[in-house]
Amino acid sequence: MSLANPEKPFASLRFRPELSRGRRYPELAHPYRTEFQRDRDRVIHARAFRRLENKTQVFPAGVSDHFRNRLTHTMEVAQIARTVAATLGLDEDLTETLALVHDIGHPPFAHAGEDELRRQMERFGETFDHNLHGLRIVESFEARYARFPGLNLTFEVREGIVKHSRDLTPGESAELDGYLPHLRPPLEAQIIDLADEVAYNTADLDDAYSAGLFRIDEVLAAVPAFAGIWESVEMQFPGAEERVQFLEALRQVINLLVSGLLDGTAAAIETAGVTSVDAVREHPRRLVCLTESAAATGRELKRFLHRKVYNSEELLKERHRSVRMIAELFAYYERHPESLPAPYREQAEDSGPPRVICAYIAGMTDGYCQRIYHELLG
Ligand code: MG
Repeated sequence: MSLANPEKPFASLRFRPELSRGRRYPELAHPYRTEFQRDRDRVIHARAFRRLENKTQVFPAGVSDHFRNRLTHTMEVAQIARTVAATLGLDEDLTETLALVHDIGHPPFAHAGEDELRRQMERFGETFDHNLHGLRIVESFEARYARFPGLNLTFEVREGIVKHSRDLTPGESAELDGYLPHLRPPLEAQIIDLADEVAYNTADLDDAYSAGLFRIDEVLAAVPAFAGIWESVEMQFPGAEERVQFLEALRQVINLLVSGLLDGTAAAIETAGVTSVDAVREHPRRLVCLTESAAATGRELKRFLHRKVYNSEELLKERHRSVRMIAELFAYYERHPESLPAPYREQAEDSGPPRVICAYIAGMTDGYCQRIYHELLG
């Protein structure tokens, strides 16, 4: 980064907690935590957060204890996002909170689970989106306060949940219209999507290497930046075993991508000439971005992962099994809405069985989903 003030280069763009639009149900200030620190702590203490431990990231739980699950993935995203926020001079607490909450609405069985719930809801002219489901969790499903439903998070955290990975279109849904659909979210929220990508592109490569899904020469051929790094690692540590050389190289790939994220964002901010949080919001495009070369490396990694990992026979088999399980459970509850747990049965009378069945299944961990499937249909 070529920055005039390398200490806190974009401090004027930091979303300070005093700027917050506040909480739905007003609360007194805490004596020593900022509003965003309180939100972070509320997320960590939520049940839905703990359930992430038993949700698949890519590799199903039970195959190995070394693979990421959705909770450890979330921690890796938080760590990367926080580093980026601190280096740019943004609000670390808001960024950390958004990273910790970014997958809180993820259904069981990773993307296969999300796709199947979406497919099920399309039969009723509706859809399923894990970010919107995450918003509903923090707005109402978490029941742990006497004075309000949900976690009563600040506006900016709720806004970040629905806007971290895409911009909204004004009028697209009544539920989202209150989240400034015509404006970009603050930089702290914009960081999350790319920190997520850096985290999973590199972590999935790591887990897939452990699982023996590719050979080193295959990734070197597919990702030129990896090949360059590999050459220098081999020269520096010729006697190290391949697994350790791989980890040395992977660390440098993470650094390359995070540096690309910092440099790309700094350049975009300088080009846009924005100097306030409001100007960030009103700018027509997101300002957090990778440099062109880091983006190219990211795309190459992703293509490689799709070819060798996500579409591998091992994971495809697993995906078919989990899709079938969700579809059969959904159909079972359609036939037997009386088998839903009591609070869901009551909601089903208000908002109709499909939405409630979808929310119930989306909240399940992989393990719970398997148990209930075997109980009801096994
Ligand atoms: Mg994620």
